Amino acid sequence: MRIILLGPPGAGKGTQATRVADHLGVPKVASGDLFRDHLQQETELGQLADSYMKKGVLVPDSITIRMVMEWISKEATREGFLLDGFPRTLNQATVLDKRLGEEAIDRVLYVNVSQDELVRRLAGRVVCNNCNRTYHKISNPPPEDGVCADCEGDLYQRGDDKPDAVAKRLEVFFNQTVPLVNYYSIAGVLREVDGEQSIKMVGQAFIEALT
Ligand code: ADP
Ligand code: AMP
Repeated sequence: MRIILLGPPGAGKGTQATRVADHLGVPKVASGDLFRDHLQQETELGQLADSYMKKGVLVPDSITIRMVMEWISKEATREGFLLDGFPRTLNQATVLDKRLGEEAIDRVLYVNVSQDELVRRLAGRVVCNNCNRTYHKISNPPPEDGVCADCEGDLYQRGDDKPDAVAKRLEVFFNQTVPLVNYYSIAGVLREVDGEQSIKMVGQAFIEALT
């Protein structure tokens, strides 16, 4: 199966991505994680992407599309994959469709969460600097403060989870990414999931939306 997780920043896509991908037995990738990995490895692409990310705006399509298409070209994705955070523009979506041809996207899970809740989630989010797993200081805390339960990596707050960048990212989502809801709805593959339930309930709703 070829799956896309679509939704505003902070909706809980990353929190559910591993569970859904494991359920389907497919590899997953988050475009934001690819950029952050590049930045950590101090590549030119990472530095360039960061200049956009820290302002809360999208990295230009020319850069993002090439990076994600490279990932999709991997042998491991032949039987299916899960994309978290890509596509985010109509142009990204149409390029992806052309690239996939007959092996089209099977399902787009659109996670819906109110703006007030998104702001709360992003304000309390901490991320593992090693494996990218996310936690929330209040709603989803790690067992040991500041330490990832999966890999013992250090947890940090993302620069773009600070209030100024958050406001910009939400505006960018509504202006540039929301049109994809209509695009995938017309294609007949969109399923909407109420992301404002508990993490466990959202997980169940995701799995149900795949059948
Ligand atoms: P996204 O990948 O969509 O940007 P994340 O999965 O990183 O969002 O989740 C954003 C924040 O909200 C994290 O701190 C996460 O722990 C928390 N979170 C995710 N799902 C829920 C939920 N259902 N209820 C409460 N908090 C959640
Ligand atoms: P995320 O980790 O999904 O919240 O993404 C963090 C940042 O990475 C975004 O605010 C963008 O600057 C950049 N980014 C991630 N995915 C994309 C994408 N598909 N298109 C453009 N920019 C992206």
